[in-house]
Amino acid sequence: MLKTMLSNIAIILFMHLCLQPLYFANKKQGIRNAVLHVIIVSFTVISLFYFPILIEEKFRFDLRAIPISFISVMHGVIFAIPVVIIASVWRFILGGAGAFPGIIFSIIIPAILSLIIRRFFHWGKFGVMKVLFFSTIIWAVCDLPFLFFVDLDINFYMMRYVTFQLSVLILFAFTKLSYHHLHLLNQFKFNAEHDSLTKLFNMKRFYEEIKALKHLNSEGGYIAMIDIDHFKKINDTYGHQTGDLVLRNFAKILLKHRQQRAIVARYGGEEFIFFKQTDTFEEALQTFEEVRKDVETSQFYRKTGELIGQVTILIGVASFPANSKLEYAVKTADEQLYKAKMNGRNQVVCSIK
Ligand code: GH3
Ligand code: MG
Ligand code: MG
Repeated sequence: MLKTMLSNIAIILFMHLCLQPLYFANKKQGIRNAVLHVIIVSFTVISLFYFPILIEEKFRFDLRAIPISFISVMHGVIFAIPVVIIASVWRFILGGAGAFPGIIFSIIIPAILSLIIRRFFHWGKFGVMKVLFFSTIIWAVCDLPFLFFVDLDINFYMMRYVTFQLSVLILFAFTKLSYHHLHLLNQFKFNAEHDSLTKLFNMKRFYEEIKALKHLNSEGGYIAMIDIDHFKKINDTYGHQTGDLVLRNFAKILLKHRQQRAIVARYGGEEFIFFKQTDTFEEALQTFEEVRKDVETSQFYRKTGELIGQVTILIGVASFPANSKLEYAVKTADEQLYKAKMNGRNQVVCSIK
């Protein structure tokens, strides 16, 4: 019995191992992932048919309800239905007296129960006790009724229960660990590509986005370097925390003006960069003017609610034709900024006519 019990647990763990790369796979490959999920879980259920846990060499049961419940709770009805169909058809083909109750109690009912659980609870918030509670319900509905048909010692029922719960807990622990790693990976990825204060793209991501946009559309565009006027004075007058708050609220204004074919990022300090993809200079200029006006008329506050003085920005614009280097456009826009600082603030300057 121990041998078959361990082989059931091994099959379930093997399922987890095969599913794991799918958690980390590209989200764009949704259909491919869904198909692979269904194949792996169906294969697991079918494999479990062939390794029944034998009790006294004549009573057999298996853990097929676990992968069925697993996919239903984790991924819902779209994933569960094909698995239920494949597993049921396979069990039907295998035949025998147990085929019909096997399909009902070990395939269909656990799927329905798990889908109901999914409807009201999110598995990510499950702890060990909740998992034990729900899997006890599933086990009680799927396995306990056989008590009335099969004359089995109560100790064997305890063994069935323990095996079931042990497998569920092992699968839960490994799945939770995988999702924890996935969450950490996404966090690392986000931090590597975003500015931690404003949550805007950093320059690394900005370059990548430009590349992607240009790949999608060969049109050129315009680069604007944006510098907050006399920002140091805000820090000096109200403190760095207020300075940080101004930067965060300023980033929100920038995002408001970022349309479909535009990218914004924090260049560094109180400088930001804005790319607008268009062949029309007037259109780009209009966007940048709108940003400038919006900042000029926006009200910035301290954490205490105290209004701070007017915030303005200076914008230097350079054209960024298709097939040209971004570094060159950035350098030109920066030069515009530098020159304009001599003549005043709160304006959009460009060398293009
Ligand atoms: P100008 O109008 O000529 O651009 O002057 P400025 O004061 O805006 O620019 P300057 O380059 O003299 O100073 C920029 C200041 O921005 C200095 C630096 O302490 C501050 N700064 C840079 N990054 C941050 C940040 O993340 N938070 C805060 N609070 N301040 C920052
Ligand atoms: Mg500056
Ligand atoms: Mg400045």
